Amino acid sequence: MSQVIRCCNGQFDISVPVVIIGAGAAGLIAGLAAHDNGAQVLIVERDANPSGSTALSSGLIPACNTRWQALSKVVDNVEIFSQDVRRKNKGQADERLVHRSCLVSGEVLHWLADNYGQNFDLIEGFLYPGHSVHRMHCHPKRTGKALIDSLVTAVDKVGIDVMTSATVTDIFASENSEIRGIRILRPDGSTEDIGCESLILACNGFGGNSGMVSKYIPEMADAMYFGHQGNLGDAVNWGLELGAAVENMAAYQGHGSVAIPHGALITWAIMMEGGIQLNSSGSRFSNEHEGYSEQSIKVLQQPGGIAWNIYDERLHQLALEFDDYKLAFENGAIRYFVSIDELADGIGVSSKIIANSIDDIMAFRTGKKCCPFGRKFQETSTLDGPPYYGVKVTGALFHTQGGLAVDTEARVLRKNNSALPNLFAAGGAAVGVSGKGVEGYLSGNGLLMAVSLGYLAGRAAANVVNEGLNEKTP
Ligand SMILES: Cc1cc2nc3c(=O)[nH]c(=O)nc-3n(C[C@H](O)[C@H](O)[C@H](O)COP(=O)(O)OP(=O)(O)OC[C@H]3O[C@@H](n4cnc5c(N)ncnc54)[C@H](O)[C@@H]3O)c2cc1C
Repeated sequence: MSQVIRCCNGQFDISVPVVIIGAGAAGLIAGLAAHDNGAQVLIVERDANPSGSTALSSGLIPACNTRWQALSKVVDNVEIFSQDVRRKNKGQADERLVHRSCLVSGEVLHWLADNYGQNFDLIEGFLYPGHSVHRMHCHPKRTGKALIDSLVTAVDKVGIDVMTSATVTDIFASENSEIRGIRILRPDGSTEDIGCESLILACNGFGGNSGMVSKYIPEMADAMYFGHQGNLGDAVNWGLELGAAVENMAAYQGHGSVAIPHGALITWAIMMEGGIQLNSSGSRFSNEHEGYSEQSIKVLQQPGGIAWNIYDERLHQLALEFDDYKLAFENGAIRYFVSIDELADGIGVSSKIIANSIDDIMAFRTGKKCCPFGRKFQETSTLDGPPYYGVKVTGALFHTQGGLAVDTEARVLRKNNSALPNLFAAGGAAVGVSGKGVEGYLSGNGLLMAVSLGYLAGRAAANVVNEGLNEKTP
């Protein structure tokens, strides 16, 4: 149970000016930014090897005004990007945070590439739901694991210490909530106290804490959690004890396309380029283009809480560009159906129902009928076949998007909007820009806040140290 210990001047085993809790994308980028601004940094991580939800993710980072976009002649800017974010969250997120995160998104990727050897590619060929232009950037290997490994290498190279197998259990703070240090618990039960002048919470949200999910996001209480198990809501709990405000706690990223029983993420690119979802009765039930996040709930509401992703050879080949999909294919999650009869048999319904569902798609495509769910089927990106591919999926909780209220420097805010003296939050520890529920999540909002807020938090935390703003009060 994490807690805040009130103290005046603690006796610490060691002291480091900037301490960061969590070595996911947010923590590692914050570490690089604080180091870049001249501060000595320590990153503390509960796992033996840094991974976090970042390593589980597809590693897609949305950013505008980038050189990778320029190379592909993509016209994008802060206005276009923030409008896409705003359209999706229906204006329910802090407008300043939306603008700031979009504003620095490209700057951070250039800075990481130029100074820290990070490589990025722009994902082209299809648009993620809600994005009006191509702006998803990723490590050339297209996995979150490659992203985190590459960031760990960068942190290592500049000599930033990452203390692993070290779970932060407590925070030491003065009566006015000025942070003094942290306590860590080692696997052998021993503890160490570490003093600091600035503290960055980069330990993500509360997806791994079933009690908190039931409390704040009851609609996902029984859903599979697909994120990192170590994200137990510590940042929120410490923040609340310190008098911080929390915002949009019911917001989250869901996903309507996790293969079962294999537990593999099936890329949503398949849906965006023509695939459809059928329920176990063989009928479509939604506009698959509204977003994969809200699709989690729509799938969970179907009989048995499942759906079938149905697509053709072209989409199968497209999906093979993604490692997660390739692995799912190798592990037997993807079924191959040579005809409508076989497909119907696989789902367990009559061929007539499937034939009707597929005939409908052809009618939507040629304009003879309108999709009752409002999806536009274009000539160029729709379902062909047979043969068909199919995969049984369910809806899952990926990560929480509510969290500590922060300003545009990632400073944690109290309920009266004043900033705590030396506490920062980034990534899933802070409130995101996804509004109040599941439908406000625009693809990439997770890493957007890890990357942008990580960068801002690292710089601001170093400034507190550099400028001596952290005058010790009794
Ligand atoms: C399957 C999946 C796919 C996704 N794909 C995308 C995508 O393509 N694009 C996108 O934008 N987002 C995606 N996301 C969301 C994205 O992964 C997260 O938003 C992002 O990784 C959050 O980064 P973070 O650094 O805040 O957290 P994390 O990467 O989870 O890092 C937090 C770290 O803190 C550590 N920690 C926690 N508590 C403590 C403690 N008390 N003491 C010490 N250490 C602690 C954890 O062990 C962890 O290593 C995806 C998520 C999932 C689950």
